[in-house]
Amino acid sequence: MDTYDVAVIGAGPAGVMAAWTAAKQGAHTVLLERETAAGRKPCAEGVLSEALDDAEVSPTREFAAHRITGAFLYPPNEKKRVRVGGDGYILDKPAFLASLAERAGAAGAEVVYGARIESYSRDDGLVHAEGRRDSQPFSLKAKVVVGCDGTGSILARQFFPRRNYPVIAAFQYDMVNCQLEDEATLEIFIGHKKAPAGYIWIFPKGKGTANVGIGLKGSGAKLLLDKFIQEHSSLFGDAKIERSQAAPVPVGGEVEDYVTGNMMLCGDAAGQVIPLTGAGIHTSMVAGKIAGEVAGKAARDGDIGANRLSEYKNRFDALWGEKISTSLRALESFET
Ligand SMILES: Cc1cc2nc3c(=O)[nH]c(=O)nc-3n(C[C@H](O)[C@H](O)[C@H](O)COP(=O)(O)OP(=O)(O)OC[C@H]3O[C@@H](n4cnc5c(N)ncnc54)[C@H](O)[C@@H]3O)c2cc1C
Repeated sequence: MDTYDVAVIGAGPAGVMAAWTAAKQGAHTVLLERETAAGRKPCAEGVLSEALDDAEVSPTREFAAHRITGAFLYPPNEKKRVRVGGDGYILDKPAFLASLAERAGAAGAEVVYGARIESYSRDDGLVHAEGRRDSQPFSLKAKVVVGCDGTGSILARQFFPRRNYPVIAAFQYDMVNCQLEDEATLEIFIGHKKAPAGYIWIFPKGKGTANVGIGLKGSGAKLLLDKFIQEHSSLFGDAKIERSQAAPVPVGGEVEDYVTGNMMLCGDAAGQVIPLTGAGIHTSMVAGKIAGEVAGKAARDGDIGANRLSEYKNRFDALWGEKISTSLRALESFET
C-alpha cells in the first residue's frame, strides 16, 4: 500500500489547488479524482478576474477565451434593468481544471483520474483510504487527507458532522444559437415565480453559445427554466439545447468544523460558497491553495496535529469568513 504525505480527494477547483501547493512544499502528494477526466461537474463557469489572480494563472485562449465586463440584473417584471460592472471570464472549466491539475503534476503531485475513494479509517496516526481505481480495489495511507470532494463528500459524512448544510438545486442547459444582445454581459433574472429564492442566469460563451440555468429552493427547476426559455423567444427562438445537467449548491455558509485531526475539508464540502450567488470556484480555489500549503508543510515537518492544521481555517476565515457570512445574511433577507 502506498503511503503519502498528503492525499487530496477530488480534482475540482479546490483539489487542483491543494495538490499543487502541497507538492510545492516538497510533500509526497497524490490527487485522486473519481471521473476519468477533469471538469465533469455541471457549472456555469463564471469567475471574476481576481479568481485567476488568486489561482496564480494568466487567462489563456485555452481555458479563458470569453471575457465578461459586467451583468444585467432584471427585477421580476423585467421592465427596468440594472447594469453592474465586473471583469471576468466564462471559463472552459474542464480545460481550466485539466491545466491546473497538470501544474500540480509538474510540481510533483501524482494525479490519478478514475480513482474513487469509498471509505476512510484511521490507524497509527495515518488515514487509510479505500476505493476503486479503474474498477479494481485499491487503498493508500496518508499523513494528511484533504477532502475536496464536493457536496457529497464521503470524508465529511464520515468525520465531520455537518449539522447545517442546506443546498439548493441548480439545473443548467448548454445552449447554442442564442440571440443575446451583448455577449460580454451576464444576465440575471430574479422573481419568486421565476426562481423561488434563487435566480435564472444566462452566461454567454460567445458566438451564440451560453450556459443557461436556474438555482432555486425546492423543486421544479426544469419546468421553470423551460417556461423562462419559452417566454424569451427573442433570445432562444432558434436556440438548441446541447446538454442538460443538474447538481446541488451549498448555500448555508461555512460548516462549523472543517479541520479535525489530520483531515481537512475544502470548497463545497466545507460550504465555502458565496450563499447569495452560489459562486464557489474562487472561494474553493483559495481554500485549496491554503489547505494544501498548510498540509504540505505540516507533513514535511512531521507535525500533523489539528492545532498546526487549523492555520488553514484561520487564514481562510480571515480572507473570506466575513464575506460568506454577510452574503448568508443577505440571502436570508432576500428570501424573506
Ligand atoms: C449548475 C451550477 C452552476 C454553477 N456555476 C458557478 C459559476 O458560474 N461560478 C462559480 O464560481 N461557481 C459556480 N458553481 C459552484 C461551483 O461549481 C462550485 O462551488 C465549485 O466547483 C466547488 O469546487 P470544489 O472543488 O469544492 O468541488 P467540485 O467542483 O464539486 O469538485 C469535487 C470533485 O471531487 C470529485 N469527487 C467526488 N467524490 C469523490 C470521491 N469519492 N473520490 C474521488 N473523487 C471524488 C468529483 O468528481 C469532482 O471532480 C455552480 C454550481 C452548479 C451546480
